[in-house]
This record gives sequence, C-alpha cells and structure tokens, in this order.
Amino acid sequence: MANAVHSATVIGAGLAGTEAAWQLAERGVAVRLLEMRPAVMTPAHHTGDFAELVCSNSLKSDDPSTAAGLLKRELEAMESIVMRLARECAVPAGGALAVDRERFSHAATELVSEHPNIEVVRAEADSVPDGSVIVATGPLTSSALEPALARLLGSERLSFYDAAAPIVDALTLDRDTVFAASRYDKGAGADYLNAPMSRAEYDAFYEALIGARRITEKDFERKELFAACQPVEEVARTGRDALRYGALKPVGLTDPRTGERPWAVVQLRAENAAATAYNLVGFQTNLAFGEQDRVFRLIPGLEDAEFVRHGVMHRNTFVDAPRLLDETLALRSDRRIRLAGQLTGTEGYLEAVASGLVAALNTFADLVGGSPVVLPPTTAFGALLAYATNPETTSYQPMHVNFGVVPPLEHRIRGKRERYAAYADRATRDLDAWFAARPDLRCQGGHGT
Ligand SMILES: Cc1cc2nc3c(=O)[nH]c(=O)nc-3n(C[C@H](O)[C@H](O)[C@H](O)COP(=O)(O)OP(=O)(O)OC[C@H]3O[C@@H](n4cnc5c(N)ncnc54)[C@H](O)[C@@H]3O)c2cc1C
Repeated sequence: MANAVHSATVIGAGLAGTEAAWQLAERGVAVRLLEMRPAVMTPAHHTGDFAELVCSNSLKSDDPSTAAGLLKRELEAMESIVMRLARECAVPAGGALAVDRERFSHAATELVSEHPNIEVVRAEADSVPDGSVIVATGPLTSSALEPALARLLGSERLSFYDAAAPIVDALTLDRDTVFAASRYDKGAGADYLNAPMSRAEYDAFYEALIGARRITEKDFERKELFAACQPVEEVARTGRDALRYGALKPVGLTDPRTGERPWAVVQLRAENAAATAYNLVGFQTNLAFGEQDRVFRLIPGLEDAEFVRHGVMHRNTFVDAPRLLDETLALRSDRRIRLAGQLTGTEGYLEAVASGLVAALNTFADLVGGSPVVLPPTTAFGALLAYATNPETTSYQPMHVNFGVVPPLEHRIRGKRERYAAYADRATRDLDAWFAARPDLRCQGGHGT
C-alpha cells in the first residue's frame, strides 16, 4: 500500500464490491473497503463474510449459448476474481454452476483481506467520502446511507422496492394472435401489442391466476406493503371482473381477426426502441416464477412466450440508472463516484460481479488517464449495461442478462436454440476483437493468483 500512487474507496464487500476492490488493488490502487457486517447485518445476510450469496447457491446456467452462460465466459475473459473463485468452489449442479457457499465466501474474504493494497474497514458508511468512490451497498443498502444517497442522486431517482411486471422476448409472441394497436387509435402509431381474450379464455386465465402459488415474502417485506401498486393476482382476488375493468380492459380496442371488441385484453408495451422485448402492462406479481410461466402462457398469443425476466415485488434498493449513470457506471453529475451491483439495477449474482468489474476498470482508467471501458453492446453484459444506462429507457426496473436486450441479428433466425447460439457466437467474436484492441485492460498484479 505504501507505494500506491492512486487511491479509491469501495463501499460494500458484497459480490460487486469484492470484485471491484480486488480489480483496483491488483492494478496498484490503494483501496479502502468499507463493510458494515458483521456488526450491522442486512435482513438477508447471515455472516460477516464477503461476497455472501444471500439466497440460492446457484449462479445459473453454464451453457454458453444462454445469456447467463455467456456472461460467465465474459467474466472469465475479463479475469474476474469472483468468477474464478466460483469455479474453484463449484459443486455438481447439472448444467448450472453452483458453489459451496461457505467455501466461496471464505475464500473471497481471505483473498481480499490479505491483499496488500486493500485496507478492510468494518464500519457502516453514512456518507460518500471524497476521492474516487464505488458505492456497492446492494439491494439492502443500510438506512444509514440512504439520506446521503438521496441527497446525491435525488430521492425521486432512488427506489426501495422492485415491483416489476414480466417481460417477454418479442420473437416468441404469436403474431397471428396478438395485434398492434393503441386504445382508440391514440398515440403515435401502434404503441402496444394486444393479446385478446374471449370470455372462456378469460375465465380459464382468471381461475389459474387466483389459484397459483405465490412467493412467500420475507418478514421485512411483509411489513411494508404497497398501497398503490397491487400484484395482479391480488387485484384479481377482489372480483372476477376487477381486471376487466382495470389493466385488462378491452375498451377502445378491436380484434382485427373478428372485427369485434374482445372480452378482455392484455396489453404489451415495448421495452426498448428496437422492440425486442415487451412487458405485460399492469402485471407486477408475487407469483412463483414457474407459476408465472404456467399461468401467463394461458394468455392467447403467449403460449410459447420466453420470459426475459419474471415479475417481482420485493425489497430492493436501486437507482434510476438510465437517468443517473453513464455507460461507465459513473454518476452523470459527479464522475468520481460510480455505482455497482444491484444498486445499478443490473440484477443477479454474476451481474453484480460484472458491474463491479466494469466500475473498477473505469475508475482505474480515470485515475491513470486511460480511455473508458465500454463492452461491445452485443455481449451479454454490454447489452444489459447499454439498456440500463440508455436515457431512452423508460420505467426502468432491475433486469438480469438476457437476449431480449441484445441488438437484433442481421438475419432473422426462427429457431430459439439456433438464434441464441448465434447471439453467443457474435458476442464472443466481438469481445475477442475488442480485447485484442485493449491490451491496457490486462491485469499485471498477480497478488491473488
Ligand atoms: C433476498 C434476496 C435474495 C436474492 N436472491 C438471489 C438469487 O438467488 N440469485 C441471484 O442471482 N440474485 C439474487 N438476489 C439479487 C442479487 O443478485 C443479490 O442481492 C446480490 O448479492 C447483489 O450483489 P451486490 O454486490 O449488489 O449486493 P450485496 O451482495 O448485498 O453486497 C452489498 C454489501 O454492502 C454492505 N452494506 C450495505 N450498506 C452498507 C453501508 N451503509 N456501509 C457499509 N456496508 C454496507 C452489505 O453488508 C453487503 O455486504 C437476491 C436479492 C435479495 C435481496
């Protein structure tokens, strides 16, 4: 540490903060890493260890032709330390990568704590210090830091809940059934896709919805109920027609196949300018993910829908990234500060790791006068960051990597497997070429290896 020329603070030694601290330290930066556990715990963590997995021990699919599998290859190419530890601590899990959670977070704690360039400070941050800072305090950021974040970011740009409707891959919708139209033909062109329901279809959907299994909220989530934003299944429970007079109202819409107004209509709104993904309007939900697949595929036109993300309603601190962050994860209003992890709305264990890595590489680039580190938008994580930091992204909700936000292929490929494999091939090619042009990104440190 004595010889370090540059310094930075990382707040939070979760998945993002662990990666960020180590990447900076390996590049010779003196890092002050603040972690409040074990003295102050979050409602989901159980230990004082770094990079603790708060829930499942699965890091999802390891198949490179899935978005999650591709992200793993991207992290490996970028020499992620957390990804390396995950491989070392892997346990058998079929096609997924799962880890021995204790070994994994012990190893992360040891490696980071012993790094000569990292000073670990076990303290709860209640402000953002001067100098280069990466804030990686996660979805359960402690309340001590909230006022400082609200002042820095604007309280209207900070959310404490994630109440998101499911999003589906546009290419998996049945276009012979769903039709493009705006209610009463208002708006610039057809802003929505509409899934029309007959009375029998609505009744079947309704019964399935009210009977479906819900995720049990954690105690800390049950205490703070939404008033304005009710899950779709709760609205349905208030009466058979409640949805037909609410989110599923058919007024102002005519099914072009019948020339008539349907009994009910599910509206889908484009998630991005390329309209590669659509969200189900008004469908924020607490249903278990498997139940969402089963019940929402009863909607005509969605029988084969692929869910780019499932609907959720849970405690989750995250910011309005499209308006606050640039593509290097720096605050547009103060470039010395970066956010990383779930706070940025890039959701998922390895997405948190990837954003910690990108934030660290960019902080380092700023410190040494290097050029910004922006991944190709065709990669799994590059596409997610491009989406998350694009000011045109509206109603931003946290999202994990998925092929619904990558740029369309030059030629349309119908089969899902073949299409995903083509996305993965393109991403790998683009990442290799990008890396070859950025030898400055190679890490010379070697302390952890
Ligand atoms: C209940 C729950 C379950 C989840 N389950 C999964 C799952 O199964 N799979 C999945 O992929 N994703 C899951 N996620 C989403 C997400 O991937 C994880 O939350 C992930 O840990 C996020 O990484 P992070 O680095 O942003 O935050 P964290 O890993 O939570 O790290 C944040 C760190 O900051 C510390 N901290 C907070 N406030 C302060 C402060 N003021 N001062 C100092 N330190 C502070 C915390 O103690 C923590 O160590 C879940 C999220 C939640 C809330």
